Amino acid sequence: MITHCTATTCLPRPLHDTEQATGQTLCTPCIHHIQAWMRELPLQITVLEGSRQRETTGTSGGRTVHRTAPLPGRADVLNLLGPAAWSDGIRDPHGDATADQHGQLPIAAVLIHWTRTITEARRWNPPASLAPRNLAAWLAHPPVLDWAARQPWAGIMRDELHDLMRTVRNTTSVRPRRRAVTQPCPRCDSLTLVATDHQLYTECGTCDGLFTREELALAARITYATLTTEPGAA
Ligand SMILES: [Zn+2]
Ligand SMILES: [Zn+2]
Repeated sequence: MITHCTATTCLPRPLHDTEQATGQTLCTPCIHHIQAWMRELPLQITVLEGSRQRETTGTSGGRTVHRTAPLPGRADVLNLLGPAAWSDGIRDPHGDATADQHGQLPIAAVLIHWTRTITEARRWNPPASLAPRNLAAWLAHPPVLDWAARQPWAGIMRDELHDLMRTVRNTTSVRPRRRAVTQPCPRCDSLTLVATDHQLYTECGTCDGLFTREELALAARITYATLTTEPGAA
Protein backbone atom coordinates (compact mmCIF):
# COMPACT_ATOMS: atom_id res chain seq x y z
CA MET A 1 0.00 0.00 0.00
CA ILE A 2 1.56 3.25 -1.13
CA THR A 3 0.84 5.92 1.45
CA HIS A 4 3.15 8.69 0.29
CA CYS A 5 3.73 10.36 -3.04
CA THR A 6 6.45 8.31 -4.75
CA ALA A 7 8.27 11.27 -6.30
CA THR A 8 11.53 11.95 -4.45
CA THR A 9 11.40 15.58 -5.61
CA CYS A 10 8.02 16.01 -3.88
CA LEU A 11 7.81 16.77 -0.19
CA PRO A 12 7.25 13.56 1.76
CA ARG A 13 3.57 14.17 1.18
CA PRO A 14 1.04 11.63 2.46
CA LEU A 15 -1.54 10.59 -0.10
CA HIS A 16 -5.10 11.56 0.85
CA ASP A 17 -7.77 8.84 1.05
CA THR A 18 -9.27 10.11 -2.18
CA GLU A 19 -5.89 9.84 -3.92
CA GLN A 20 -5.31 6.33 -2.57
CA ALA A 21 -8.81 5.31 -3.65
CA THR A 22 -7.96 6.07 -7.28
CA GLY A 23 -4.68 4.17 -7.00
CA GLN A 24 -2.52 7.26 -7.41
CA THR A 25 1.18 6.82 -6.74
CA LEU A 26 1.65 10.52 -7.37
CA CYS A 27 -0.06 13.17 -5.27
CA THR A 28 -2.50 15.56 -6.92
CA PRO A 29 -0.25 18.65 -6.48
CA CYS A 30 2.47 16.75 -8.40
CA ILE A 31 0.02 16.08 -11.24
CA HIS A 32 -0.79 19.79 -11.38
CA HIS A 33 2.91 20.65 -11.38
CA ILE A 34 3.52 18.39 -14.37
CA GLN A 35 0.61 20.02 -16.19
CA ALA A 36 1.99 23.47 -15.45
CA TRP A 37 5.49 22.46 -16.57
CA MET A 38 4.13 21.12 -19.85
CA ARG A 39 2.33 24.43 -20.42
CA GLU A 40 5.52 26.35 -19.55
CA LEU A 41 7.82 24.28 -21.75
CA PRO A 42 6.80 25.76 -25.17
CA LEU A 43 7.66 29.23 -23.88
CA GLN A 44 11.00 27.99 -22.58
CA ILE A 45 11.74 26.30 -25.91
CA THR A 46 11.08 29.62 -27.67
CA VAL A 47 13.62 31.32 -25.38
CA LEU A 48 16.16 28.54 -25.95
CA GLU A 49 15.68 28.74 -29.74
CA GLY A 50 16.10 32.50 -29.57
CA SER A 51 19.40 32.23 -27.76
CA ARG A 52 20.64 29.57 -30.16
CA GLN A 53 19.71 31.82 -33.05
CA ARG A 54 21.49 34.83 -31.60
CA GLU A 55 24.64 32.89 -30.96
CA THR A 56 24.92 30.97 -34.21
CA THR A 57 23.89 33.37 -36.98
CA GLY A 58 26.32 36.17 -36.19
CA THR A 59 24.61 38.49 -38.66
CA SER A 60 23.04 41.84 -38.05
CA GLY A 61 20.90 43.72 -40.55
CA GLY A 62 22.11 41.51 -43.37
CA ARG A 63 25.77 42.28 -42.69
CA THR A 64 28.01 39.66 -41.25
CA VAL A 65 29.46 40.82 -38.01
CA HIS A 66 32.36 39.45 -36.07
CA ARG A 67 31.41 36.28 -34.34
CA THR A 68 31.34 36.77 -30.68
CA ALA A 69 32.79 34.19 -28.38
CA PRO A 70 30.22 31.58 -27.43
CA LEU A 71 28.27 32.70 -24.43
CA PRO A 72 28.48 30.62 -21.31
CA GLY A 73 25.76 28.02 -21.34
CA ARG A 74 25.66 27.69 -25.12
CA ALA A 75 26.53 24.01 -24.97
CA ASP A 76 23.61 23.55 -22.55
CA VAL A 77 21.24 25.27 -25.01
CA LEU A 78 22.31 23.08 -27.91
CA ASN A 79 22.12 19.99 -25.74
CA LEU A 80 18.58 20.78 -24.50
CA LEU A 81 17.39 21.43 -28.06
CA GLY A 82 19.11 18.30 -29.31
CA PRO A 83 17.16 15.93 -31.53
CA ALA A 84 15.70 12.63 -30.43
CA ALA A 85 14.01 9.87 -32.37
CA TRP A 86 11.06 7.69 -31.37
CA SER A 87 13.49 4.79 -30.98
CA ASP A 88 15.41 6.82 -28.36
CA GLY A 89 12.37 6.38 -26.16
CA ILE A 90 13.46 2.88 -25.23
CA ARG A 91 15.89 2.70 -22.38
CA ASP A 92 18.06 0.01 -21.03
CA PRO A 93 15.89 -1.19 -18.14
CA HIS A 94 18.98 -1.49 -15.99
CA GLY A 95 20.30 1.92 -16.91
CA ASP A 96 19.02 4.83 -14.90
CA ALA A 97 18.73 7.80 -17.22
CA THR A 98 18.13 10.18 -14.35
CA ALA A 99 21.34 9.34 -12.53
CA ASP A 100 23.15 10.86 -15.40
CA GLN A 101 26.87 11.05 -15.55
CA HIS A 102 26.34 12.22 -19.11
CA GLY A 103 24.51 15.44 -18.35
CA GLN A 104 20.92 16.42 -19.03
CA LEU A 105 19.07 14.56 -21.80
CA PRO A 106 17.59 16.74 -24.56
CA ILE A 107 14.02 17.92 -23.95
CA ALA A 108 12.84 15.79 -26.89
CA ALA A 109 14.46 12.64 -25.49
CA VAL A 110 12.80 13.01 -22.08
CA LEU A 111 9.36 13.72 -23.56
CA ILE A 112 9.61 10.92 -26.14
CA HIS A 113 10.59 8.40 -23.49
CA TRP A 114 7.51 9.08 -21.36
CA THR A 115 5.18 9.45 -24.34
CA ARG A 116 6.38 6.12 -25.68
CA THR A 117 6.11 4.44 -22.27
CA ILE A 118 2.47 5.57 -22.00
CA THR A 119 1.35 4.94 -25.59
CA GLU A 120 2.82 1.43 -25.65
CA ALA A 121 1.30 0.44 -22.32
CA ARG A 122 -2.11 1.83 -23.34
CA ARG A 123 -1.82 0.75 -26.99
CA TRP A 124 -2.57 4.34 -27.97
CA ASN A 125 -1.33 5.85 -31.22
CA PRO A 126 1.69 8.08 -30.74
CA PRO A 127 1.03 11.80 -31.26
CA ALA A 128 1.21 12.76 -34.94
CA SER A 129 4.03 15.20 -34.29
CA LEU A 130 7.05 14.39 -32.14
CA ALA A 131 8.03 18.05 -31.81
CA PRO A 132 8.63 18.79 -28.11
CA ARG A 133 5.84 21.40 -28.06
CA ASN A 134 3.34 18.81 -29.29
CA LEU A 135 4.61 16.12 -26.94
CA ALA A 136 4.31 18.52 -24.01
CA ALA A 137 0.71 19.28 -24.97
CA TRP A 138 -0.02 15.56 -25.32
CA LEU A 139 1.48 14.70 -21.93
CA ALA A 140 -0.56 17.45 -20.25
CA HIS A 141 -3.89 15.92 -21.35
CA PRO A 142 -5.82 15.05 -18.17
CA PRO A 143 -6.69 11.46 -19.31
CA VAL A 144 -3.01 10.80 -20.09
CA LEU A 145 -1.72 12.28 -16.87
CA ASP A 146 -4.42 10.75 -14.67
CA TRP A 147 -3.52 7.32 -15.99
CA ALA A 148 0.23 7.92 -15.69
CA ALA A 149 -0.18 9.10 -12.08
CA ARG A 150 -1.41 5.62 -11.12
CA GLN A 151 1.60 3.75 -12.49
CA PRO A 152 4.50 2.49 -10.36
CA TRP A 153 6.93 4.67 -12.35
CA ALA A 154 4.93 7.90 -11.95
CA GLY A 155 7.34 9.19 -9.29
CA ILE A 156 10.32 8.66 -11.62
CA MET A 157 8.51 10.52 -14.40
CA ARG A 158 7.76 13.43 -12.08
CA ASP A 159 11.38 13.52 -10.83
CA GLU A 160 12.76 13.46 -14.35
CA LEU A 161 10.45 16.23 -15.59
CA HIS A 162 11.28 18.23 -12.46
CA ASP A 163 15.01 17.92 -13.18
CA LEU A 164 14.45 18.82 -16.83
CA MET A 165 12.53 21.97 -15.88
CA ARG A 166 15.21 22.95 -13.36
CA THR A 167 17.93 22.66 -16.03
CA VAL A 168 15.82 24.50 -18.61
CA ARG A 169 15.04 27.36 -16.22
CA ASN A 170 18.66 27.62 -15.13
CA THR A 171 19.69 27.81 -18.79
CA THR A 172 17.14 30.44 -19.85
CA SER A 173 16.98 32.28 -16.51
CA VAL A 174 13.22 32.49 -17.16
CA ARG A 175 11.25 31.43 -14.12
CA PRO A 176 7.52 31.45 -13.53
CA ARG A 177 6.43 34.31 -11.33
CA ARG A 178 4.80 33.52 -8.02
CA ARG A 179 2.39 36.03 -6.53
CA ALA A 180 0.83 36.08 -3.11
CA VAL A 181 -2.97 36.20 -3.30
CA THR A 182 -4.43 38.56 -0.71
CA GLN A 183 -7.38 36.41 0.19
CA PRO A 184 -7.76 33.85 2.96
CA CYS A 185 -7.65 30.20 1.92
CA PRO A 186 -11.26 28.98 1.46
CA ARG A 187 -10.38 25.76 3.27
CA CYS A 188 -8.04 26.71 6.16
CA ASP A 189 -8.35 30.51 6.30
CA SER A 190 -4.56 31.03 6.17
CA LEU A 191 -3.19 33.95 4.18
CA THR A 192 -0.82 31.70 2.29
CA LEU A 193 -2.41 31.43 -1.15
CA VAL A 194 0.08 31.65 -4.00
CA ALA A 195 -0.65 31.93 -7.72
CA THR A 196 2.08 30.77 -10.11
CA ASP A 197 2.38 31.34 -13.87
CA HIS A 198 1.14 28.42 -15.98
CA GLN A 199 -0.66 26.84 -13.01
CA LEU A 200 -4.41 26.53 -13.42
CA TYR A 201 -4.79 26.36 -9.66
CA THR A 202 -3.90 28.73 -6.87
CA GLU A 203 -2.16 26.76 -4.15
CA CYS A 204 -2.39 27.13 -0.37
CA GLY A 205 1.02 26.81 1.28
CA THR A 206 -0.59 25.68 4.54
CA CYS A 207 -3.15 23.03 3.65
CA ASP A 208 -2.01 22.18 0.07
CA GLY A 209 -5.49 23.11 -1.15
CA LEU A 210 -5.80 23.88 -4.87
CA PHE A 211 -8.40 26.37 -6.03
CA THR A 212 -9.53 27.58 -9.42
CA ARG A 213 -10.03 31.26 -10.18
CA GLU A 214 -13.80 30.67 -10.04
CA GLU A 215 -13.63 28.98 -6.63
CA LEU A 216 -11.64 31.88 -5.20
CA ALA A 217 -14.04 34.42 -6.67
CA LEU A 218 -16.96 32.54 -5.15
CA ALA A 219 -15.22 32.29 -1.75
CA ALA A 220 -14.52 36.03 -1.83
CA ARG A 221 -18.20 36.77 -2.53
CA ILE A 222 -19.31 34.50 0.31
CA THR A 223 -16.86 36.14 2.73
CA TYR A 224 -18.10 39.56 1.67
CA ALA A 225 -21.75 38.54 2.01
CA THR A 226 -21.10 37.10 5.50
CA LEU A 227 -19.33 40.25 6.63
CA THR A 228 -22.06 42.56 5.40
CA THR A 229 -25.01 40.59 6.77
CA GLU A 230 -23.61 39.65 10.19
CA PRO A 231 -25.27 41.76 12.89
CA GLY A 232 -22.75 44.07 14.42
CA ALA A 233 -20.34 43.83 11.51
CA ALA A 234 -18.85 47.18 10.72
ZN1 LIG B 1 3.85 14.59 -4.89
ZN1 LIG C 1 -5.34 26.40 3.06
